[in-house]
Amino acid sequence: MNTHVPDPVRPGRLNRRAFLLATTAMTALAPALAAESKRRVVVWAEGTAPEDKVYPQDVNTAIADGLKGLAGWEIVIAGLRDPDQGLSPERLAGTDVLMWWGHKLHGEVKDDLVQRIVRRVKEEGMGFIALHSAHFAKPYRALMGTRCSWREYKADGTSARVIVKLPDHPIARGVKDFELPKIERYGEPFAVPTPEAVVLDGVYTKPNGEKEPGRMGLCWTVGKGRVFYFTPGHETYDDFFRADVRQVLRNAVEWACAAGNSLP
Ligand code: ZN
Repeated sequence: MNTHVPDPVRPGRLNRRAFLLATTAMTALAPALAAESKRRVVVWAEGTAPEDKVYPQDVNTAIADGLKGLAGWEIVIAGLRDPDQGLSPERLAGTDVLMWWGHKLHGEVKDDLVQRIVRRVKEEGMGFIALHSAHFAKPYRALMGTRCSWREYKADGTSARVIVKLPDHPIARGVKDFELPKIERYGEPFAVPTPEAVVLDGVYTKPNGEKEPGRMGLCWTVGKGRVFYFTPGHETYDDFFRADVRQVLRNAVEWACAAGNSLP
């Protein structure tokens, strides 16, 4: 057996400096490469949550904070007032899941951006999660193709029990039925296409004690992408700080991405 075969990996004396430089460069590059391989969720909000109430840093900051437990994800905050309304073509192209909170400024979102979002979902499999009053957000309505209205909206001291209807669904992982002591009541019916799954159901309790059912977590597949709608999330209630809600949203991000990170 020939024991003198040179090892191409071992540095010789003459090229040791080059080897060390290369090693150093690779080490410096490693975090960048790791970051690139992460999946990305962008948490977008229009910036209208009152600063003197529950979300002084806006809802997207609180939501992003709740997503921190997601391993292998880069979490990005974006907003309407950012350049390119927070979603440049480059950023959107590298986004696996887009989470959207809007309320008063839906009309300011540019149609060109809406079209790019819809294309990313339908043709390239980006996940889209609409929260609460984002039922009227342009991209959500474009994806649903319906009016997306609820029958009524009441922030009148209603509470709710959120009920896990599909315990085996990925969005219900680690989630048990839970209470929201305050919720804005969104009255059924909800003018959306029939969802492929209603993971979370709910029962509202009105101030007079009367009960009323209302769906809380609904799923669709639109083209190649997955879409989730979550009913709670009013800007003056603390839903996005609650552990149960945070668990649902972490699960939803992973579920919405599962259609595949099909970047072109
Ligand atoms: Zn609201």
